[in-house]
Amino acid sequence: MHIGLPKEIKVKENRVALTPGGVATLVRRGHSVTVERSAGVGSGFADGEYEAAGARLGSAADAWAAQMVVKVKEPIASEYPYLRPDLLLFTYLHLAADRPLTEALLQSGTTGVAYETVQSDDGALPLLTPMSEVAGRLAVQAGAYYLQKPNGGRGVLLGGVPGVQPGHVVVIGGGVVGTNAAKMAMGLGARVTVLDVSQKRLAYLDDVFFGRLTTMMSSEANIRALLPDADLVIGGVLIPGAKAPHLVTRDMLASMQEGSVIVDVAVDQGGCVETIHATTHDEPVYTVDGVVHYGVANMPGAVPRTSTFALTNATFPFVSQLADQGIDALARNVALRKGLNTKGGQLTYAGVGEAFGLSS
Ligand code: NAD
Repeated sequence: MHIGLPKEIKVKENRVALTPGGVATLVRRGHSVTVERSAGVGSGFADGEYEAAGARLGSAADAWAAQMVVKVKEPIASEYPYLRPDLLLFTYLHLAADRPLTEALLQSGTTGVAYETVQSDDGALPLLTPMSEVAGRLAVQAGAYYLQKPNGGRGVLLGGVPGVQPGHVVVIGGGVVGTNAAKMAMGLGARVTVLDVSQKRLAYLDDVFFGRLTTMMSSEANIRALLPDADLVIGGVLIPGAKAPHLVTRDMLASMQEGSVIVDVAVDQGGCVETIHATTHDEPVYTVDGVVHYGVANMPGAVPRTSTFALTNATFPFVSQLADQGIDALARNVALRKGLNTKGGQLTYAGVGEAFGLSS
């Protein structure tokens, strides 16, 4: 199959959908790959590395002319003219939040397979997990940075030092983000409390990190009790398909210490902190009632090299299967089939149809 790798052109997007190593594997399996010039530069891959892997370098149009295009972010308006009926597009699409793109995919007849709806038997979303891992770990780095006095924080070192109590990190939501945040915070030597509504999840965390963290059922009373002692609060709650609930309400901020920090990773679903709003890497934080708020909606974008490896580790087996088997891969792989969002002008994913009141 001919596979195209365009450069990401969404503002501040430095990830790339295939590494030179991935390209080399595809070429070895008999496929041809066209890489748009400088597609990998943001992730630290020079054009020469792709050439050495056996790719052909070309323009955006050359890459988009391939039978299958692999990307990271959803196409933006200037890319819509590349969509066409015989194109297989494999990327994050997030169609429920993007009506113009949904219409462009339907009108063009493109086969759109979305990373975010690929789902394994156990209900896991394997192509979202790696970005949650990155964001969870980064949340602690960001929190530790903004806790420093010159950065607006209360001047607490999360790990403390011998003779001085470490900082207290309260993680709300013990899923992928929360577990990775907890790991990093424990690694720094902080005191860590994780809250979740799932007893099963709390039991798992207690088993795995026995003695190193405190688990608590997520309730308003427990959150209110913890906030006055929290130096860093990390939000990692997800209710699939719904807006995140506001678990830290505005009135609770008054009980928090001046200069404490909230990193609400769930901001992309509205956030679990009432006072959070989405921010950017250029201006990541703002302060409400003395509490520093970090609400970057695209945290993995800060570490594109790590994020590219993490993402492509997860996507590559599916890319490889689509390259080998074409559209038949969707019939053979149930997880991949759940990724199919549009085909032949039809919506094939119920959640997107419901979002727009269209049938699917
Ligand atoms: P996940 O499904 O693995 O974990 C969510 C956890 O929240 C689950 O354990 C669930 O039981 C728990 N939960 C649900 N309701 C709760 C409540 N009331 N109190 C406490 N816990 C509750 O999800 P995840 O992969 O960890 O993702 C978490 C959020 O982070 C999502 O909104 C995701 O989109 C977001 N995210 C943001 C970024 C970013 O850059 N900002 C990056 C990756 C993920």
